[in-house]
Amino acid sequence: MTDADLTVRDIGEFGLIDRLSAALPPDVRTASDVHVGIGDDAAVWRPDAGEDVVITTDSLVEGIHFRLDWTDWESLGHKILAVNVSDLAAMGAAPKLAVLTLGLRGDELVRDLEALYRGLGDLARRSSMTLAGGDIVRSPHGLTFHVTALGQTRQQRTLMRSGAYSGDLIGVTGTIGASAAGLRLLALEDDDARRTAATADLLIAAHLRPEPRVALGEVLLERGATSAMDLSDGLAGDLPKILTASGVSAWIDERRLPVAAAVRALFPNEWRELALRGGEDYELLFTAPPRAWDAIASEASAIGGPVTAIGEILLRAGTASTLEIIDAQGARRPLLPGAFDHFGGA
Ligand code: ADP
Ligand code: MG
Repeated sequence: MTDADLTVRDIGEFGLIDRLSAALPPDVRTASDVHVGIGDDAAVWRPDAGEDVVITTDSLVEGIHFRLDWTDWESLGHKILAVNVSDLAAMGAAPKLAVLTLGLRGDELVRDLEALYRGLGDLARRSSMTLAGGDIVRSPHGLTFHVTALGQTRQQRTLMRSGAYSGDLIGVTGTIGASAAGLRLLALEDDDARRTAATADLLIAAHLRPEPRVALGEVLLERGATSAMDLSDGLAGDLPKILTASGVSAWIDERRLPVAAAVRALFPNEWRELALRGGEDYELLFTAPPRAWDAIASEASAIGGPVTAIGEILLRAGTASTLEIIDAQGARRPLLPGAFDHFGGA
């Protein structure tokens, strides 16, 4: 048997931990503030003096969140960490470490899982994170990944969903709808002309390898944003969460939505829905008072992450938050909240 055919079952749990750990960049295996990493019963991390610990967890399940015929293993490794780092970014936190539980069938190739760890390791290194441990369990019905990521506050401050204030501008980083468009492209027949469009790879990459906005989260925190969250369920699903948490209402303007030209071109009739309800953008949605806007926008563009103002926070009239959208004709109408919901609830 050659190394290329080696499966998890051939080398067992402990052999696999060694191989996966070796696939990580050295500074993702150890760091000066992580006194005990992979190899003992638990990891030991010392946050900077006075800072608070920020904790998040997210899972990816085969057939629900990813398909092995649509992704390569390195991208998958990137994404399982990225969705967690995005939550830390949305708090304005500094990512520090993660633990990863793998649920495996047993017939996976060791080299594929090493590629998964390389993809994860590359993002961890760029995010200054350590992979401090994990677990391996049998999962006969499909692959599962559970990541818990820890970060720390910057000067004990955090961005929450509850700080939006009447008169604040509503901003979004980067563009929205590209990930959902990429997912649509992956689902098309191979001979569909849109699959071979020059921009298709870019949109598919937005879906497979979302880049968490850690540096932008720091800018928002430092420059006076009043609330933030990461966009995982689409603007129409997520903005109402800020409104409800903050006890406010809002309008947004469809004409200002930052939707990439490629999305509009390939999906001329669906780009609005992709932008509003597509999900998995992993951009930051935030609010900031008008006087803070210029500093946020110029610092954001200096680090290569544009921000766009798409609307405004309003005083809430009744007991429920409302969200209105100004359409292409300039007419104002209610935007029905519509999040992607795993259980299909209302
Ligand atoms: P225990 O039985 O005490 O839970 P394990 O034998 O499961 O310990 O794990 C041994 C060490 O390897 C621990 O430090 C654990 O955090 C680490 N580890 C286990 N699985 C993984 C994994 N998938 N990725 C990274 N580290 C892992
Ligand atoms: Mg264990």
